[in-house]
Amino acid sequence: GKQICECNTCYDGPDCSNHVLDCPADVNSGDPLFLEPFWMQNAASSALVVSGWHRMSYSFGDQTATSKELEKSIRKLHSVIGNAVTEGRYIVFGTGSTQLLNAAVHALSQDNSSTPSKVVVSVPFYPAYEEQTEFFATEDYEFYGDTSLYRNNSDDTMDMIEFVTSPNNPDGKLKRAVLNGPSAKAIHDHAYNWPHYTAITSPSDEDLMIFTLSKLTGHAGVRFGWALVKDKTVYEKMLIYTGENTFGVSKDTQLRALKLLNVVLEGDGRSIFNYAYEKMRTRWESLSQTVSLSKRFTLQEIPPRFCTFFKNVRGPSPAYGWLKCEREEDELCYKVLEDGGILGRVGTRFGASSRYVRLSLIKSQDDFDQLLQHLKVLVLQEAGGT
Ligand code: PMP
Repeated sequence: GKQICECNTCYDGPDCSNHVLDCPADVNSGDPLFLEPFWMQNAASSALVVSGWHRMSYSFGDQTATSKELEKSIRKLHSVIGNAVTEGRYIVFGTGSTQLLNAAVHALSQDNSSTPSKVVVSVPFYPAYEEQTEFFATEDYEFYGDTSLYRNNSDDTMDMIEFVTSPNNPDGKLKRAVLNGPSAKAIHDHAYNWPHYTAITSPSDEDLMIFTLSKLTGHAGVRFGWALVKDKTVYEKMLIYTGENTFGVSKDTQLRALKLLNVVLEGDGRSIFNYAYEKMRTRWESLSQTVSLSKRFTLQEIPPRFCTFFKNVRGPSPAYGWLKCEREEDELCYKVLEDGGILGRVGTRFGASSRYVRLSLIKSQDDFDQLLQHLKVLVLQEAGGT
């Protein structure tokens, strides 16, 4: 029949539903489509209809009824999950957590200081910290690089701002701030601090914590994130930033976030978190089983931990595989995988060696199945000595 839609390169047929064999597995981006089937199962309760005359106003200041309800749902969610302390914290909304990452750097940097604050992060790290900090650099701050270089710096008059990502992107490890002392400040990026991806060990009690709807419900396109901020001055500076930048967060986005969070909160979160954890855990098990048959490739190790949300010891379920090529000659690991039909993200983007590649495990089931199919072939070839 005639093709009516333009298919993605990996599909063909009249309705683009035939999976093309041997198509490369695109596991580059962190697009959390693994949650799409959950929202299909919850289509009615998560649907939203907005009349044309509704919510037209700027209503600046985020003091609308929706914003207040949304703030309440966020506080309730954190207390139900037990992943962050919200008492004594202000909440700032952002257009995705991406906007809040730079708002936080801005708010923590010293203005009018003779030297810019140094923004640091431990390798391997989420590339946006470096890209964004350099793109927006002002006289007040600059990107400085790997935290380990400054750990023993005797010049403690230098103002440091450390990004701490826990669990970490790309390797899923739980992290703590490395720098301390009077001029060290930290931004705790908790994008993955949800029961899907990690055992919840205790509520995070940091001064500045950033979360995102993207990795919680999977709605990356809605562009909603929030920061929990202890210090009033820092909170106010972040509000000024989002005000100057986008005049607050879209009211449509806030409405949608509220609707979705209320579905998440049904039955105290059991439904979505059971679904998401099972999915991530089984993906990790298949991936690590396949890699365990190989001498050529290894994966990061994440110990089982007691989860205060599920109230049991649970195995790893990270958002990404952080794969290493062990053979001397496989120095360009990305290339090895690419030749095998797997498109990951090269380790150097995370400040790490080219022996590493990040594999996204949070995309659709088809993406994951293709990844596994290609990886199995690579591992079989290895056993055959080819
Ligand atoms: N922080 C981390 C660690 C991430 O991995 C991501 C998304 N890949 C973000 C922040 C940004 O997400 P968003 O802007 O969609 O909230």
